[in-house]
Amino acid sequence: MGQKSIELFEKAKRLIPGGVNSPVRAFGSVGGTPVFMAQGRGAYLTDVDGNRYLDFNSSWGPLITGHCHPDITAAIHAQVDRALTFGTPTELEVELASWILERLEVPGMEQIRFVSSGTEAVMSALRLARGYTARTHILKFAGCYHGHVDALLVKAGSGLATSGIPDSAGIPEGVSAMTVVVELDDEEALEKAFQEYGDRLAAAIIEPVPANNGLLLQRPEFLQKLQKLCKEYGALFILDEVISGFRLGFSGAAHAYNLQPDLVTYGKIIGGGLPVGAFAGRREIFASLAPLGPVYQAGTLSGNPVAMAAGLACLKLLTKELYDHLEDLGQVLDRLDGNWKLVRLGSIFWLYRGELPRRASQIDPAGISAYKELFHRLLAAGIYLAPSGYEVGFLSSPMQKSDVERFIGAVG
Ligand SMILES: *Cc1c(COP(=O)(O)O)cnc(C)c1O
Repeated sequence: MGQKSIELFEKAKRLIPGGVNSPVRAFGSVGGTPVFMAQGRGAYLTDVDGNRYLDFNSSWGPLITGHCHPDITAAIHAQVDRALTFGTPTELEVELASWILERLEVPGMEQIRFVSSGTEAVMSALRLARGYTARTHILKFAGCYHGHVDALLVKAGSGLATSGIPDSAGIPEGVSAMTVVVELDDEEALEKAFQEYGDRLAAAIIEPVPANNGLLLQRPEFLQKLQKLCKEYGALFILDEVISGFRLGFSGAAHAYNLQPDLVTYGKIIGGGLPVGAFAGRREIFASLAPLGPVYQAGTLSGNPVAMAAGLACLKLLTKELYDHLEDLGQVLDRLDGNWKLVRLGSIFWLYRGELPRRASQIDPAGISAYKELFHRLLAAGIYLAPSGYEVGFLSSPMQKSDVERFIGAVG
């Protein structure tokens, strides 16, 4: 561990709660001192002590084209020279909206609103669903994370599972009382929940590819069942594609699983590394959103031109060739075969022990504790994984087969 990281962390802990601005960065579940990064280029990171790492964390998902892609950097520079923010509409947000909506192969994605994080996207989508349906309850799944939205910090996955907090303090019971939690991969429980709460449900929200608490790949029939029940009971079907959007192909999991969501939330990749979130859906639903309708939602820096420029430049790079390259790398990764098992969908992967889980409760704790040793061994070998066994890894387009082979060799 580098001396400079250790010193910076000591200073950070005095000034910033826990020394970090997002809890899972603190290395709480793997132990040791967080590495302070100084530079990224392509698939590689350099820390403040000059150590280099092959980066499988990808800033938790946004960096599908790696660090400092020249197109994204140039787009940001060009906008920075014009203005940072206006607080007025801009051409760039119209361009990004049309780039996305014209290309999304997901029925009903007619309008989109930009915000500044995935959390904000989910929070706003829920409020819109409640306002539009005039209902109160939300259904979510155990192990799915949807940002730190009050009503959804119930059985919410890795960051929480990691720090052993089942629910967050500071959330009144009345708020979480309107959240119905169901296990993933369990049609029977789902039917029961809809029978009991169906007429009060404003929406059901799911990560179609749950990737915040291990990678809990769902059977397509389960996702279809959820969609069917939502339609039957008049609840909006919300897909949280903050991780899967633009990663499993441009049209995300909605297209991959042939789903017809009422609303989709985006984040991470959509901003190309700058803070952007969004929610998209039918025009008829958005008619309820301010300034058109009674559901209020706003943001001083929403649609920020620098962030829009970065997002647009990033999304323009997402060609079929790029996804094919990531899939090729994935197929090399599939050869991993030793003490660890690998589950992968596109460029998202997860290392685990025991049986392949489809529910949070089925995750083998042996894998989570063994991950500490793996994490530090790989860190010492110049490979940076997320600092928690519950977190997934990401392939990025600057990676080469030799990078993936080195990773396989290091995992052992
Ligand atoms: C990361 C994530 C969020 C939260 O996004 P932030 O930008 O961290 O607020 C929400 N939902 C899912 C599925 C995510 O992976």
